[in-house]
Amino acid sequence: MGNKMNENIAKTILVVDDNESNIDMLLAILKGYDVIPSTSGEDALALIKEESIDLVLLDILMPGMDGYTVCQRLKNQPDIQDIPIIFITAKSDEESIEKAYDLGGADYVTKPFKPKELLARVKVQLKLQNVLKELDFLATRDSLTGIYNRRKFFQLAEKMYSEVSNGLYALMIDIDHFKRVNDRYGHHTGDEALKNITRTILQILPKSSLFGRMGGEEFAVLVKADDQTQMMEVASLLQQKVNETLINIGDGSTISCTISSGVACKQEETSSLDSLLRQADMALYKAKESGRNRSIFRNV
Ligand code: GH3
Ligand code: MG
Ligand code: MG
Repeated sequence: MGNKMNENIAKTILVVDDNESNIDMLLAILKGYDVIPSTSGEDALALIKEESIDLVLLDILMPGMDGYTVCQRLKNQPDIQDIPIIFITAKSDEESIEKAYDLGGADYVTKPFKPKELLARVKVQLKLQNVLKELDFLATRDSLTGIYNRRKFFQLAEKMYSEVSNGLYALMIDIDHFKRVNDRYGHHTGDEALKNITRTILQILPKSSLFGRMGGEEFAVLVKADDQTQMMEVASLLQQKVNETLINIGDGSTISCTISSGVACKQEETSSLDSLLRQADMALYKAKESGRNRSIFRNV
């Protein structure tokens, strides 16, 4: 869920060419990068799924699966389709080049290539990839806490909602009397509280959960659980651990906050994600109304 980038880690480049001496040459040019060689399209696809690859240098003419097919397969898989591909090939006719770009190739270099030019093109693609990742992070994360923002939460939640039919729960969490924290200790302390509480919640939620900031001091979670008992155990653990989360108020002393949450389960009659979240929201309202610092399950 947390996902900060580190530009200093050596980038991993997959080099695919059926000719081993070509691979050796590329290995020499790309020293400084973490290079994984592959001599067939089939192997390359398997490697792309297993390893975390930043860029692919791809030959077109290979026995078995050719480079175009490798590219096509890669671009059809959402989890790997953003990995840039630079075609490196002896084919220099216009149709071949056009096809490479049509299939989603990022760049095209003809053999024999100039090592420095190739290296420059590699750098451009890696740089572009970094910028795109940064932009994606900025567009999908809440800047204070680093968790998903509302828009991204809904986008991923719709997917999870349609995929999970049994044991899917929505949790709406709201910090209690948070306005007082700001009023008494200042906005900076309020921000610290939001960050610390978010971190605590992240640590407790099962890895497959979806966690987003809806706005202000309100959060939404989609989580899988075996049954209501297990779900409510998670909810009460969240309450307990948030309450144990200390927030520095600047003079050496600390405060803590409590949260209320409303829980609802996706059932056959649940018509949509919105309706599931609405039910959790109604339960949250009850938790607030009946005294706060508690979790309430919404019985339909
Ligand atoms: P309740 O228990 O009923 O939820 O009371 P509450 O005070 O938490 O709720 P209310 O909605 O009245 O106030 C929420 C406060 O959260 C108001 C606002 O100052 C604060 N808040 C919202 N977003 C941020 C933020 O990003 N940083 C800080 N420091 N405060 C925030
Ligand atoms: Mg509140
Ligand atoms: Mg609120």
